[in-house]
Amino acid sequence: MFADVLVQFKVKSLDHTFTYHIPSHLEDSLELGMKVRVPFGNQVINGFVLRIYREKKMEVEVKDILEVITKELKLNEELLALGKYIKELTLCTLISAYQTMLPSSLKINNKKESYEQKISYISLNKELEEIDAFIEQNKRGKKQNELLEELKRGRLLKKEIVNKSSLQKLIELGLVREEKESQYRIWQERDETLKKELTEAQEKIKNAIMEKKEEESTFLLHGITGSGKTEIYMQLCEETIQNGKNVILLVPEISLTTQIVRRFYKRFGNDVAIFHSSLSEGEKYDEYQKIYREEVHIVVGTRSAIFTPLKNIGLIVIDEEHSSNYKQENNPRYHAIDIAKWRSHYHKCPLVLGSATPSLESMARALKGVYTYLPLNKRIGKSELPMIQIVDMAPEFKKRNLVLSDELQMEIMQTLERGEQVMLLLNRRGFSTIVTCQSCGYTYKCPYCDITLTLHNTSNHLRCHYCGYTKINSDTCPECGEKAIRDFGLGTQKVESTLKELYPSYRIVRMDADTTSRKGSHEKMISAIEKGEYDIIIGTQMISKGLDFPKVTLVGVVNADESLNIPDFRSGENTFSLLSQVSGRAGRGELKGRVILQTFNPDNKTLQYVLRHDYMGNYQYEMELRKKLKYPPYYFLVSIKIMSKEYERASKEATKVVQFLKKGLKGNMILLGPTTASPFRINSIYRFQIIIKYRVDEGLKQNLASLDEQYINVRDVHLEIDIHPSRI
Ligand code: ADP
Ligand code: ZN
Repeated sequence: MFADVLVQFKVKSLDHTFTYHIPSHLEDSLELGMKVRVPFGNQVINGFVLRIYREKKMEVEVKDILEVITKELKLNEELLALGKYIKELTLCTLISAYQTMLPSSLKINNKKESYEQKISYISLNKELEEIDAFIEQNKRGKKQNELLEELKRGRLLKKEIVNKSSLQKLIELGLVREEKESQYRIWQERDETLKKELTEAQEKIKNAIMEKKEEESTFLLHGITGSGKTEIYMQLCEETIQNGKNVILLVPEISLTTQIVRRFYKRFGNDVAIFHSSLSEGEKYDEYQKIYREEVHIVVGTRSAIFTPLKNIGLIVIDEEHSSNYKQENNPRYHAIDIAKWRSHYHKCPLVLGSATPSLESMARALKGVYTYLPLNKRIGKSELPMIQIVDMAPEFKKRNLVLSDELQMEIMQTLERGEQVMLLLNRRGFSTIVTCQSCGYTYKCPYCDITLTLHNTSNHLRCHYCGYTKINSDTCPECGEKAIRDFGLGTQKVESTLKELYPSYRIVRMDADTTSRKGSHEKMISAIEKGEYDIIIGTQMISKGLDFPKVTLVGVVNADESLNIPDFRSGENTFSLLSQVSGRAGRGELKGRVILQTFNPDNKTLQYVLRHDYMGNYQYEMELRKKLKYPPYYFLVSIKIMSKEYERASKEATKVVQFLKKGLKGNMILLGPTTASPFRINSIYRFQIIIKYRVDEGLKQNLASLDEQYINVRDVHLEIDIHPSRI
């Protein structure tokens, strides 16, 4: 018998299978999707078995498969097929699709053999009479006898708690033995079964979804913050499990969602496997094993959890579906929603997309009837959406209130005096520098793209990253004439020190990339906040989503406009969703919430929609812009990057790529570029960008695939194609 094996090589041209002979001792055990070791040239490498058959096609000498690695783990039939879809979807290699689907410990080039955690136990090795006889004459070995007595009571003892020297002696005498048992690193007992009685509105939604439990059907659950979406997910899980099926639930970022995971553990205990990037390799391996061995019904995790080999799926939920974290930003550039749709089709099960602020794409589909729209407009119980207020920072700056306005300072004081908690968001992702007039709030916009210009410090130029428009920066504002143009940079540390000065007797916690990088630190902070050990929480976007602290009654956004100024066509949509999300952290319990947004653009449309909790208003406003400027969801986008260490090479090839693409361009397609990509140079590599906007594919994908192939063997120029990029 023979097998076709897919091997990994860096160069794409080797993305096909090689035939090997299956030696007779492996014939019975070898299965599709298994990882094997094979000779290749004068090396030995690993590969996946993609085909097994009796007769070989041609009369050529083929080598033997050497051995099967990790027998118990293989890519099952579904995942093998899914890999092919990912290749088609993203134009990646088949091998990189499969590699992406597996945790590192199971990837093909991983050297370490076993990630199983073994615990050593001690038990008796002789009949009781013999043991007793030994104890009888071993008068002086008090410690040894104690250990034997303990073991006689029928107990297994963990090796690590046993006295070493007595143990050594007893093992030598053959009286006790050591046993190894594998043990999962993560183990959570269910500790409450508190199931909430669903409200009528929640019940209706649950039923609408369960009605289609055997269909490939996508739902958009549009529920405001605190409307009880998570509770619905949990009860859907329960029913799905009762029907003998399994559930995958995706969350955008585990650090934002500690609380959700905890709620799932509480209700489902060790029926849940979790899967996210801050687990250790060993933990990931264990969680994968639980899924593979069908020991769990629920998988909760971030983007890559969509690839876990859960069988018999009855429901897929993607929470905070608008999050850009669901798009992978390196190869293969897949979107988790696309993968979820594929699996929902494969298993004939519903897919639920949940959000308080759905992406424009999803909302447009829901309004067209492609998705079933399920709105949930009321918070649970007496809780109401908080009152939002906008504070103009221009006059505050004149008063030297550089971080906190008088209004926000006063509100903070009052909240603290009532013994409630305050949350302050610094709206910042922070790599591009935006210049703002500190007197009137003016920011430079590109005349052609409706996008903020970014400052290139080295040359003191302001540039549009879409069309390449540039102008020289000056410190005089063209709007109000004041010499007050500054690049506006504000960090969480600065906010923290300002607060410490203003409120020295209150306890402040700062949550940002710096303070939460250590494993487990995020969870610790969240528990401490829940217990009321802090009065003020300062943070970046990581505090905006998913958290449920009933005692937080004031949310302040220090710089509401910062994300509006990110030069991206989604900045309005993203800002609306960020500010709505963070506002949703206020007043979730019995106490009423309040939100203050500090801005230099108090009349900005997006902020006005946030103020009125008007998702639909913002949706329509953004949709009009997208239509006018030919952006998604009206047009699909493809971004192509051409990169080289040499400026000339990159620039020339970019022009060549444009020429090639223009030949295949059909009526509805628009080609922009080449322009310099943003940032133009990364790691000394120059990057040019081409954007294609299109409505109907009409052979575009094929053209792109053939373009991709042309660059496989070009060494000094690298091509990168991103289909449906999340930002450009
Ligand atoms: P969302 O996920 O939409 O933000 P949650 O599911 O977290 O909303 O619900 C908000 C709060 O209301 C939580 O504290 C939750 O325990 C509670 N809750 C949800 N559904 C119910 C219900 N049917 N009865 C009582 N409390 C509920
Ligand atoms: Zn422009």
